[in-house]
Amino acid sequence: MEKQESLTVEDKRKLAEKRAAELKQRIEPYLKARENIPTGMKLIEKQQKQKQKILDLLGATEDDWKDWRWQLKNRFTTVEQLGKILNLTDREKQEIEEVGRKYRWAISPYYVSLMDPDDPNCPVRRQAVPAIQELQDVMGEDDPMGEEFTSPVPSITRRYPDRLIIKVTNQCAMYCRHCQRRRNIGEVDKATPKEQLEQALDYVRKHPEIRDVLLTGGDAFMLSEERLDWLLGELDKIEHVEIKRLGSRTPVTMPQRITPELCEVLAKHHPVYVNTHFNTPKEVTPEAAEACDRLTRAGVPLGNQAVLLKGINNDPHVMKKLNHELLKIRVRPYYIFHAKPVSGTTHFITRVEEGIDIMEQLRGQTSGLAIPTYIINAPHGYGKTPMLPEYLISSGKDFITIRTWEGRVMKYPNKDEMEQ
Ligand code: SF4
Repeated sequence: MEKQESLTVEDKRKLAEKRAAELKQRIEPYLKARENIPTGMKLIEKQQKQKQKILDLLGATEDDWKDWRWQLKNRFTTVEQLGKILNLTDREKQEIEEVGRKYRWAISPYYVSLMDPDDPNCPVRRQAVPAIQELQDVMGEDDPMGEEFTSPVPSITRRYPDRLIIKVTNQCAMYCRHCQRRRNIGEVDKATPKEQLEQALDYVRKHPEIRDVLLTGGDAFMLSEERLDWLLGELDKIEHVEIKRLGSRTPVTMPQRITPELCEVLAKHHPVYVNTHFNTPKEVTPEAAEACDRLTRAGVPLGNQAVLLKGINNDPHVMKKLNHELLKIRVRPYYIFHAKPVSGTTHFITRVEEGIDIMEQLRGQTSGLAIPTYIINAPHGYGKTPMLPEYLISSGKDFITIRTWEGRVMKYPNKDEMEQ
């Protein structure tokens, strides 16, 4: 490039235009691809039709639909029922029955309404409807992260110096087919007994280094408002607990759960953060947006923890679209987890290179806010390990060599003091 001082204003403008055209070209493939990516916002009409079909089937009203307890009570748990809303082949029906004998399933009417009735590969359907591959898995383990060995007292998992998890229930609004805590999702839904929660709180009280407590399960929002209020209140009384976090997939699978009453409880106990789990742009619907809006209005910052899943979101364009859709509803993409080898779920696992490629196609191509961290959970509970494309090529005494997001290899000064 010519020395900048020798360029006229007009030359500079032309260069800027050329660069802008070059930049636009970089995202042309995405701009084309995104037209064909189904999103919850684009599919409103279809969803409304499915919803009406479900209401008719269950003899329910619009008010029932908005009531999370109705959603929970009326979860789809039989093939017969599901077959009335989705077009299932006899073989699919038989396979769902077979898998259901080993791994439980239950899907909220709302989440069923997001499914494409004709497409077995619909990303919403694949996350919820049992598939025969779950029984064919030979490489999965029940607890590949060794959570059982990082639990100093029942219902606590501690893998890091300054924070820990309290598992407050094993219940979820829906039982995801890729669930990484499948072993905890038993046949009976149960909240962690109060005595066990007391024990967990006691552990936190006795460990002043714990400044961050994550309530999860299962799904933390399956607890009643009263129980959550009590638990958050007890944590508030512990001086060294600086923040509370809650993990819930209800904004995705049962957004009706995000009631004004729940938000009121959360707002009483700030700072409270919520991480949720959207995996596909199809899940970002007006109802999910409304739930997230309620949470953010209650002052709760929202993050998203997606899992990289084969056939669902292992595509750079889909992942980018998901992150853009999330930012529009004020959810910050936080992590993309590499799927763990959990029994019955390994058909969802991708190669790590696919995750790296996704990260490569996000960085620079879109806002930093739309870029989560891609994580592998190290075996034996040794924690989250970020997986990154390589940007630092080499380091020397006075210079490092970097690779930019566009693949330009450049030197960058690396000195204690810049020479005058
Ligand atoms: S909501 Fe989370 S914990 Fe519950 S089944 Fe789904 S992935 Fe597992």
